Amino acid sequence: MENKEYQPVIGLEIHIELATASKMFCGCDAYHFNVEPNTHCCPVCLGLPGALPVPNKKAIEWTIRLGLALNCRILEESKFDRKNYFYPDLPKGYQISQYDQPFCVQGKVILKEGREIRIRRVHLEEDTGKLLHTEIGGKKCTLVDFNRSGIPLLEVVTEPDFQNSQEVDEFLKDLQRTVRYLGISDADMEKGSLRIEPNISIKTKSVKGKAQNDEELPLYKVEVKNINSFRFARKAIEYEIERQIEILQGGETPIQETRGWNETENKTVSQREKEEAHDYRYFPEPDIPPMNFTPEKIAEIKKQIPELPEKKEKRFIKEFKLSPYQVDLLIETKELADYYEEALKINGKIDGRKYSSPSEIANWLINRKVDIKTVSPEKLIKDLIASKEVTSVSEAEMSRIVDETLSENAQAAADYKKGKTAVLGFLIGQAVKKIGPQADRQEITRELIEKLK
Ligand SMILES: [Zn+2]
Repeated sequence: MENKEYQPVIGLEIHIELATASKMFCGCDAYHFNVEPNTHCCPVCLGLPGALPVPNKKAIEWTIRLGLALNCRILEESKFDRKNYFYPDLPKGYQISQYDQPFCVQGKVILKEGREIRIRRVHLEEDTGKLLHTEIGGKKCTLVDFNRSGIPLLEVVTEPDFQNSQEVDEFLKDLQRTVRYLGISDADMEKGSLRIEPNISIKTKSVKGKAQNDEELPLYKVEVKNINSFRFARKAIEYEIERQIEILQGGETPIQETRGWNETENKTVSQREKEEAHDYRYFPEPDIPPMNFTPEKIAEIKKQIPELPEKKEKRFIKEFKLSPYQVDLLIETKELADYYEEALKINGKIDGRKYSSPSEIANWLINRKVDIKTVSPEKLIKDLIASKEVTSVSEAEMSRIVDETLSENAQAAADYKKGKTAVLGFLIGQAVKKIGPQADRQEITRELIEKLK
């Protein structure tokens, strides 16, 4: 045991439900949250015989948008394929997906510490319906809601380049933010519009002897499903790493299988042994011709991509001299980042004492948790200016107030003179009370120190 070293090998499959108005291959309304079951359906998304699919152009462009944001290569020719899949949540008995010619391949993302995560592919498919297991008249039954059936579903597949749960966490949060910046999905894990399936295995290295070839992957992998938050993703991965290492330490190899995350028991449980890709018997979708993307077309899609978080982060730090902490919070959403820049523009038109530094504005926005939906950037700047305006008091008046404060707090004044300088804050507070909350604290401090000499 002591001469072995275990290295987790983690890859991700991520499904993202696109926020297009209509479904992937028909004109049905794609909105399906809290909608009466089976009301957004037609012969196409119900898979009725003779119905012909017509691809949603926007969904395809959005897939390419994300592919470009993930530094992928866009294939000149792509096509859809049928993936045979026999389960009641898919009415056709197959899913239209992409097999050997997905829209985007070979991307990469660089994590903060500089590690590169390769993106194998980004492809487009259709979502399935939803099964509801319930009881009617004392009988257990399963109901199917096809409102979700046929909604455009994007899939991102990474290479198994992650080494721990923290890397996965960073990648997923960045991906979610990017997807939101691109405006292609709300990528909400609780709603299921972002679903992640990590696959995990452990590489064994002999520490004393020669290391296992780095390129060589373990002969098994375990896929984990039922993860609906970033926190559960971390926990599920950590649980699996520990479970698999224990098996390996016992001299055995974990089984290749699909496991589900059980959030109440905080563990993964076996669901089924994994099907191989050939079980799906993919073949080209005969009803949709292959598609071609010229460099001009790809350039056009590229233009739709706004400044992405990573670039914005660097620019904010450089241009506005903000700390990475401030920037991280400001670029959380595109709306907040845009709002901040709008406020800066308004602030830029103000001169002199009333001008606030970009950092001051950032802090005001962050610390006060300003609701950018109700407070306009103009109002924000006005509030910030008002907070800086001080109640002016004449020199004689200031002198009188400070004298009064010292005589009323003779003990504190005496303590200060004995060297207990910490009481100064208390004395300042007492003087502020006499003038009001907008009192000029600097003036008061100066006067107090003068009189306490
Ligand atoms: Zn439909």
